[in-house]
Amino acid sequence: MPNYRSQYNFPTDISGTTEPTALVLGSGTSTGVPIIQCGCPVCLSTNPFDHRLRTSVYLSCDGFGLLIDPSADFRLQALRYRLPRIDAVLVSHAHADHVFGMDELRQYNRLQEDATINIYSRDFANKTLTEIFSYIVNFKPKANDQMYRPQLNFCILPESPYKIGPFTIESFIIPHGPAKSTGFRIEAKGKTFGIASDCSELTEEAMDKFTGVDFLLLDGLRDRPHPSHFSIGTAVEKMQILKPKIGRFIHISHDISHSDLEARYPENYGPAYDGMKVILGNPTPETPSKEALNYIKF
Ligand SMILES: [Zn+2]
Ligand SMILES: [Zn+2]
Ligand SMILES: [Zn+2]
Repeated sequence: MPNYRSQYNFPTDISGTTEPTALVLGSGTSTGVPIIQCGCPVCLSTNPFDHRLRTSVYLSCDGFGLLIDPSADFRLQALRYRLPRIDAVLVSHAHADHVFGMDELRQYNRLQEDATINIYSRDFANKTLTEIFSYIVNFKPKANDQMYRPQLNFCILPESPYKIGPFTIESFIIPHGPAKSTGFRIEAKGKTFGIASDCSELTEEAMDKFTGVDFLLLDGLRDRPHPSHFSIGTAVEKMQILKPKIGRFIHISHDISHSDLEARYPENYGPAYDGMKVILGNPTPETPSKEALNYIKF
């Protein structure tokens, strides 16, 4: 494991980014990969591309940091990529893998002069979030109370399109098995990003919004069907219809190694990976250096 200082040279450092940029903080399914105590070849792999933290993406533009899903691995992701700011958060749905990093946002309250951070989600997700995080919502500080809670404002995402900092957000409900999730189409400086990290279907509206975006991330759990998630085959089929400039599947399980996936999908519609950085509009992602990948390894 490289020492702490190596973070200062981390090639996917995103501070100071002026162009709209997306950084994949995690590409794994709800368990993460490796899975605790799993002895399968992917979980035992020493290839850093096979290490998938829980799915989350950071968007940056003109120094504004927008986090999509404070994952259960958020603290590690914030350290690994030295995330400079969290100015706002979008939540797709309130499943544990996507939101259990919420408490870690308190450090960004401190870093940002105690500014409250808005946590935007659609009404169904907001309802669950305010129940799960009732200790944050209902916190009333008493005099001399040393207990520090995050200062978060859980708000229902207003009608689309909605402007958050430099980003214009469009959101739409997407089926996620018996549950629901949210797809986002996000635009800044004429560049576009789309994500549906957990979906079992794409509505006509979602297909319309995702068509031709610069960078698209779609759920692609594994080869075998799953009632709540796209298989990899379905994700790639959708990308072939939607034709994003760069299309990758995300929320990947331990069933298949990254190198096998890359061999199978040599075109631009292949697997996402932790540390993948895309300057929106560019035709290819920036590849992390060897040092960065060593830092990613467990
Ligand atoms: Zn998930
Ligand atoms: Zn495994
Ligand atoms: Zn989910």
